[in-house]
Amino acid sequence: MLFWTVLAREIFNKHKKKVVFIGKKNQIIKDSIYINNPHISFEKTEYTININLNRYRNFHLEMMQKEHGIISRCNFYGYNPTNIYPVLNYTNEEEERIKELLKILPEKFICIEPHAKTSWTHNKSLPFEKWQNIVDELIKHGIIIVQVSIPKQKLLDNVVDFRSKLSNFRECACLLKYCSLFLSTEGGLMHASVANNNKCYILYPPMFHPNYTLYDRVRYTWIHSNEHNCCYKQNKCEECLNLMKNFDEFSCIQNIIDLYLE
Ligand SMILES: [Zn+2]
Repeated sequence: MLFWTVLAREIFNKHKKKVVFIGKKNQIIKDSIYINNPHISFEKTEYTININLNRYRNFHLEMMQKEHGIISRCNFYGYNPTNIYPVLNYTNEEEERIKELLKILPEKFICIEPHAKTSWTHNKSLPFEKWQNIVDELIKHGIIIVQVSIPKQKLLDNVVDFRSKLSNFRECACLLKYCSLFLSTEGGLMHASVANNNKCYILYPPMFHPNYTLYDRVRYTWIHSNEHNCCYKQNKCEECLNLMKNFDEFSCIQNIIDLYLE
């Protein structure tokens, strides 16, 4: 959903009008991710422009393009974005809440989300043991790791448990603003990191090309082989899962530490 904030910014900059996104059953989309967004409104007025997101159905096609998904989507609606960084603005209440939480954390820490969202595809998940190995290596270097998953997800050993301290995606994204580095797989929090412009390192899955969803603000390792990459399969892909399973997680430790120290 953060992809669409780029389209809203383009429209606002061009026409000086806020955008109302229309979704299923002609309803206004009031996603919490758009709260406080200066280019998006949840109410139709004479000063807003309606954009019907139902018209866009190229989700599978866009993965196969050479360009970023955001560019494909903006082009579809007749816009060519000047930059592709999403927009995510926090409320004062959210900022205050995160400031309170920061009091119990050291000045420098890495946030980690080892659980990729699996509702769309399982092919982006890195095995949990590999995340544990990465955490163990980073801890040897005296780095504090904060896990920011939703409460029921499995907890890594030796991390600061923030699973129940953050009540939603927005608060989690707001905390990332203050971390020294965010470490995860491709997903929503990565896009939030780019909106925040906090440092971010991503273990990118084989299933599509990094150009499709990455940004120049993100460092990454693309897990893939010459034989298998860009399969665009949402359904379980054994080859993708094997590549994730056989990935040498120790190979990216130095890159992560270097970025953390930068
Ligand atoms: Zn695959």
